Amino acid sequence: MKKISLSLLAAVLVLTNYACLDNIGAKPITDTKKATDLSIIEEPFKYWTWITADPERTDESYTEEFKKYKQNGLDAILINTNADAKLLARLAPLAKKEGLELHAWIMAMNRPGDKEVNKHPEWYVVSRSGKSAYDNRPYVGYYEFLCPTRTESRNHVLKLVSELADVEDVASVHLDYIRYPDVYLPVGLLPKYDLKQETELPDYDFCYCDVCVETFEKEHGRNPREMENPAIDIEWKQFRLNKIRAVVNDAYDIVHKKNKILTAAVFPYPEMADHMVRQRWDKWNVDVVLPMIYNNFYNEPVEWVGFATKQGVQDLAAKNTQLHTGIYVPEMSGEDVAKAIQLAKDNGAKGVAIFDGPAITEDHFKAIRESKK
Ligand SMILES: [Zn+2]
Repeated sequence: MKKISLSLLAAVLVLTNYACLDNIGAKPITDTKKATDLSIIEEPFKYWTWITADPERTDESYTEEFKKYKQNGLDAILINTNADAKLLARLAPLAKKEGLELHAWIMAMNRPGDKEVNKHPEWYVVSRSGKSAYDNRPYVGYYEFLCPTRTESRNHVLKLVSELADVEDVASVHLDYIRYPDVYLPVGLLPKYDLKQETELPDYDFCYCDVCVETFEKEHGRNPREMENPAIDIEWKQFRLNKIRAVVNDAYDIVHKKNKILTAAVFPYPEMADHMVRQRWDKWNVDVVLPMIYNNFYNEPVEWVGFATKQGVQDLAAKNTQLHTGIYVPEMSGEDVAKAIQLAKDNGAKGVAIFDGPAITEDHFKAIRESKK
């Protein structure tokens, strides 16, 4: 069996700057219960964090930040370079030198500010109400989601994945925003947008672009634009789940050919991800998932981290996909973080990924260090 060190990623929605959450981190393989290769050794519980790179910063300032993570017990970092492979190549040796595993975090189907994407209005998703995310963004200005069905838009994302996977010393490409725009926002975020979402609303239901509609009609003999209640058409929903899965599975093949692994930041557990953003991650070819189990976004107590972790671990039982629990620390005390780490461990996670690096306080670091004793 191939040995992989893996990464988890998460796509995150940050309450302040971002409207939605996506975060991933993962580590592949090794369900030791099923492993027949006795040489497989249980890997230690892994600690990750997501960070966003700034090309203006000096190598020294990155080294200082990486040292801090390593000294406080972190093992891996997921870096968003805005899909800039050159910047990633600059940072990779710095992370390696400090003994950190590096993962290339990419905003996959949501590509804000991508100049190539901006040249192609037809690449964007279209809502049931006929609005293109090119000039009519759902929720927030940075929601520039691409259609996963159209050949050119999906291949653009896969090209970026391939370029990141080429960077030396990158352990994984970490897919974030690997989904459609939120059909339902996390309940804790609704007041911020002054929204009530009790059904699948036409402005938040995607993708009704010409290519999606024509392809579905050819396969199933009906037109989604003419459905009275598309939310109850199972094939139409499945069609869209499958299109995201196809992008993931292609990304998996691309990175594995380059001896890297695939990780992804996903919504808390498969049925919830399916319901909220049409993301059925237990059906994907992916080495590690880092579900963003951000209890505060859902008005849930920290105990919910245990529930959601267990739910995902059970769904992956028959697969070679590891689950590492993503936690959102800005609204957590040191005690909360200690509890969340323990709940992740007790419910079968292989690690925890923290959103995000700069938000980790000394109290949080203390909880991490104590959890390793
Ligand atoms: Zn489409």
